Amino acid sequence: MTETTVVDLETLVALCKRRGFIFPSSEIYGGIGGFWDYGPLGAELKRNIRDAWWRACVQRRNDIVGLDASIIMHRDVWVASGHVAEFTDPMVDCRRCKRRFRADDVAGPRCPECGGELTDARRFNLMFKTFVGPVEDDAALTYLRPETAQGIFVNFRAVQQAMRLRLPFGIAQMGKAFRNEITPGKYLFRSREFEQMEIEYFVKPGTDEEMHRRWVDERLSWYVSLGMRRESLRLYEYPPHELAHYSKATVDIQFRFPFGWAELEGIANRTAFDLQQHSEHSGNDLRYYDDETNEHYLPYVIEPSAGVDRSFLAFLIDAYREEPDKDETRVLLRLHPALAPVKVAVLPLSKKPALTALAHEVHALVRQSWPSMYDETQSIGRRYRRQDEIGTPFCVTIDFQSLEDRAVTIRDRDTMAQVRVPIAELCPALADRLRY
Ligand SMILES: [Zn+2]
Repeated sequence: MTETTVVDLETLVALCKRRGFIFPSSEIYGGIGGFWDYGPLGAELKRNIRDAWWRACVQRRNDIVGLDASIIMHRDVWVASGHVAEFTDPMVDCRRCKRRFRADDVAGPRCPECGGELTDARRFNLMFKTFVGPVEDDAALTYLRPETAQGIFVNFRAVQQAMRLRLPFGIAQMGKAFRNEITPGKYLFRSREFEQMEIEYFVKPGTDEEMHRRWVDERLSWYVSLGMRRESLRLYEYPPHELAHYSKATVDIQFRFPFGWAELEGIANRTAFDLQQHSEHSGNDLRYYDDETNEHYLPYVIEPSAGVDRSFLAFLIDAYREEPDKDETRVLLRLHPALAPVKVAVLPLSKKPALTALAHEVHALVRQSWPSMYDETQSIGRRYRRQDEIGTPFCVTIDFQSLEDRAVTIRDRDTMAQVRVPIAELCPALADRLRY
């Protein structure tokens, strides 16, 4: 497998299941399409992606603040945003087998499954419906949010005033969103429950085009800074006829998935569309007062919108390598240390009590600072492979010499180089290598 080969999806799916990254949801009941569970290692990797995004987009900036809005919101939010009327896919039903398809996925007038006659295309709203309170009537109807963005828009004025923010500034939010996709698929790429990482960056109209370009560069750099290969990414600028109704310009960061180039993150110039809509529908004036020019106006907004699950999939695909090693093939995930689910594995060379006692001592030390793993089963070579396959950047090996000199070996996942350090200097040595 060369540097530029992309791992096939079946191989990755198998690895993710075998090693506890991803399981199909409700699998013992036969599963449920479009939903996935993150296993122990997946939960760590996912958390690391979120943390890396929050660090870069909120904590290390002085112009963006965070928000954590509710998933269920007032129904009128979705009327104002256009989701009740517009967030639909055309679908057709088979009159014979009753299957439902996206109209775009069906080539002719016949059912692709049974050859039966199809209905005309109808609009199908992708929002999940639910009821608030004990009565399931129309007045109690609302939706699970199909995007996190609207939680930011409806809190725009509250956040701006509470934090005394001046343009340009951003509000960032991550959290679950739900879309009742007719045809979920491609593993984590299109699921019905997913997690978004969105920024709404508010700017003075007229500066929006420049800010849009800046955000495209900024977001592209984020993926590269976390170890993604630049050649796995490319930009796609939407031609005017493909733009959403609210958008003045949209650039996608695309990733080379095993099934082709596809959207990883979209960066849209949404103009003042959303604040305008919410001003009109709520009756609240959401204009910003600019004390330099003494004007009231609705800011424009640049929206970098990323998906946690899609990033998860892309980081795994990009990190996957098969390398020749003696007579075998070494499978490894070259995950950036910030993303790796386990940072350090502690491995005694054998199960001799004197060695394992010292290894437990070392593990207790390491565990204070990093997610780590202890493993004493099977040969040391097998244990290195197991750690390579889940992307653990460093293994610490305790051997018989360690009992005499109180020194251990740090083994690097990518180079397989080994250095010996005194136990007293182990944590500073690991900290040097795990700085992010
Ligand atoms: Zn049919």
